[in-house]
Amino acid sequence: MQVFQQMESAVRSYSRSFPVVFERARGSYLYDEKDNPWLDFLSGAGSLNYGHNNPLLKKALMDYIENDGVTHGLDMHTTAKAEFLETLRDVILLPRELSYRAQFTGPTGANAVEAAMKIARKVKGREKIIAFTNGFHGVSLGAVAATGNDHHRSGAGVSLGNIERMPFCGYHGRDTDTLKMMDKLLGDPSSGVDLPAAVIVEVVQGEGGLNVAGDAWLQGLQKLCRKHDMLLIVDDIQAGCGRTGHFFSFESSGIKPDIVTLSKSLSGFGLPFSLVLLNPALDVWKPGEHNGTFRGNNHAFVTAAAALKLYWGDDRFQRDIQHKAELVTRSLQAIVDAHKPLALRIKGRGFMQGIECENGDIAEAICRHAFDRGMIIETAGNHGQVVKCFCPLTISEEDLMKGLNILGRSFTAALNDYPSLKTA
Ligand SMILES: *Cc1c(COP(=O)(O)O)cnc(C)c1O
Repeated sequence: MQVFQQMESAVRSYSRSFPVVFERARGSYLYDEKDNPWLDFLSGAGSLNYGHNNPLLKKALMDYIENDGVTHGLDMHTTAKAEFLETLRDVILLPRELSYRAQFTGPTGANAVEAAMKIARKVKGREKIIAFTNGFHGVSLGAVAATGNDHHRSGAGVSLGNIERMPFCGYHGRDTDTLKMMDKLLGDPSSGVDLPAAVIVEVVQGEGGLNVAGDAWLQGLQKLCRKHDMLLIVDDIQAGCGRTGHFFSFESSGIKPDIVTLSKSLSGFGLPFSLVLLNPALDVWKPGEHNGTFRGNNHAFVTAAAALKLYWGDDRFQRDIQHKAELVTRSLQAIVDAHKPLALRIKGRGFMQGIECENGDIAEAICRHAFDRGMIIETAGNHGQVVKCFCPLTISEEDLMKGLNILGRSFTAALNDYPSLKTA
């Protein structure tokens, strides 16, 4: 432990919540150096949707390495890239009647967000991008400007500009139509809001507290974008790759974004890999204009193609996620009901659900109690007040129920630590 305190920057964060040293991982479990199992309800913040060291993906990668497959090839053509692109087209895009071009960026989500915003600005010749309250888009300067969270914004050290902040779906309560507010601001030549190039939105705000943009709101947002000549960028880095119960988070709404960013679970194996999907008409990049040494990680091409084939060739996996998501909703509802009259509330949808607590201290205490009981789980939200269930999509029903039981007991234990609340 000492080496981390001595050597590693103070910027480290998850390691503070989970102060053990992990050695190996498999499926829904991490194992520490003493071989204690830890049930993983964090999944690399959504980067491990198919679990740790998924054996089928691992096999594909091991075979590729064994055959001296290209590891690094800048953005040159490789067989692994061809295979990924063909699989993306045939398994994901064609069945959904989507015809995007694929742009590989540097391997982080933030880099995909930067590329998406750059191309939108370039196409429209305008600087501003609309981003929403509680949105999270990464921490590089362009991306952190679009991010709402002041903790992340204050790390920038320079002014963050070229973003118009608008209220997300439901931000002003159920009775206020935030799209109507936006429409008025965008249509009023005297509102002071410059016409933006694009809107960037998460369908379910992962870091921002599992706030959901409803289907009708998304449809309205697409209409608003067309009316005001703005591009629609869906940041599907966290909510994509099956997390909400479909491959893309926006599928149930029927919208067709102009640009989609994917990263986190795209490689399926926890390997760094990012992708921008572009409406072909927007693909006006000059060669190398947005580049990166680690564009298109060939090992990630291999595992990503394998994951798409394995899980997305038919609708069985989707239905399995949706079925298990109902179990999550039911268990979370039972927790909420057990602690009435406390103001606990279920947030999110699909396999990105959680419980909102009175405040961040309680949510943190709940996660600590879960850790004491062998589970890794984190908070989200503007005040860290949402306990966020983020287990692998491939988790067995048995382990899922085990985790939800631990969560229930952690709520009871933590709320006992806050006796003042019990009489609230
Ligand atoms: C994690 C995340 C990012 C940033 O990805 P990094 O790989 O951390 O740069 C961007 N957008 C969303 C929605 C995310 O969840």
